[in-house]
Amino acid sequence: MNKKSPILSIIVPCCNEAPVLEETTRELTTVMDHLVREGKISSDSMILYVDDGSTDDTWAIIEQKAGHHPYVQGLKLSRNFGHQSALIAGIEATQDLSDCMISIDADLQDDVAAIDAFVDKYREGYDIVYGVRRKRKSDTFFKRSTALTFYKLMEKMGVRLVPNHADYRLMSKRAVDELMKYQEENLFLRGIVPLLGFPAVKVYYDRKKRFAGESKYPLKKMIAFAFDGITSFSIAPIKLVTCIGFLLVLLGAGVAIYSLAVWFLDHTISGWTSLILSIWIIGGMQLVAIGVIGEYIGKIFQETKRRPRYIIERNTTEKMKAKDTVPHG
Ligand code: UDP
Ligand code: MG
Repeated sequence: MNKKSPILSIIVPCCNEAPVLEETTRELTTVMDHLVREGKISSDSMILYVDDGSTDDTWAIIEQKAGHHPYVQGLKLSRNFGHQSALIAGIEATQDLSDCMISIDADLQDDVAAIDAFVDKYREGYDIVYGVRRKRKSDTFFKRSTALTFYKLMEKMGVRLVPNHADYRLMSKRAVDELMKYQEENLFLRGIVPLLGFPAVKVYYDRKKRFAGESKYPLKKMIAFAFDGITSFSIAPIKLVTCIGFLLVLLGAGVAIYSLAVWFLDHTISGWTSLILSIWIIGGMQLVAIGVIGEYIGKIFQETKRRPRYIIERNTTEKMKAKDTVPHG
């Protein structure tokens, strides 16, 4: 490869991550210093913290670091837009400033040592490098089993995901340019990145414990995330409802024949139970069906509005771009 010292951006979404930023910066800097020394990445590489509407000191810390630290830059979203949107904001902000981008969580549960391997793979010519968790021993049993169910369910629904890969990955600028053409608001990166094509490879690592702060993914958020993932990528739920509908029609035909027969045999009082049952079952099914259809209509509604996926309040990388043009402020 003729790629000489590419500029790397490490994008770190942060939602109330004040307790971890110090350590995270230290670890990422160590890795970057090492890579720069070995000539694997350019010294213009950066760490971009995206503050996703934190209510603690996160932005103050980022801003303070962005002024002094050689690599650190910051992006502040105007409110909490969610993990995926924060990632996209970071990717878009660094798109024209770097040759490749790595996204990693602020809590460094994903081993930073793998970054070296990511960059090697990029230099070998891969456009996408997926960080894949070797085992999930450090996650709670609950987190592990819900995640596993999620992957199984997605697979059944025909969504191509890389199992045990979250949002720890490297993407080349070429891949990011294509990614940004996906204009949907409900962006589920894990589902879309495999659709890009381009040479891709997996790098395995061990997932660690969050070393400070709390997980921002409580059960409610996880369910919403899984539901979004499924309805954004698959119409399997609609098909399922249609199938159930057909089955019910068949069943109804059976019930009709039965009740007619009973009527002919003069046992008219009976049949009340089955009637009531059918009303309840069919009524219930209809509600389910309406709910699912409503979910999709809701998606169409959101997409047609073309709302911005995030809003930036402050951006320290702006200074870098402005360097070549007229300086101000
Ligand atoms: N995060 C974010 N916005 C949110 C929720 C989370 O930017 O609304 C960030 C968070 O700061 C962290 C990453 O997304 O860097 C993953 O979150 P967390 O570690 O809490 O999730 P878990 O590892 O428990 O799945
Ligand atoms: Mg985490």
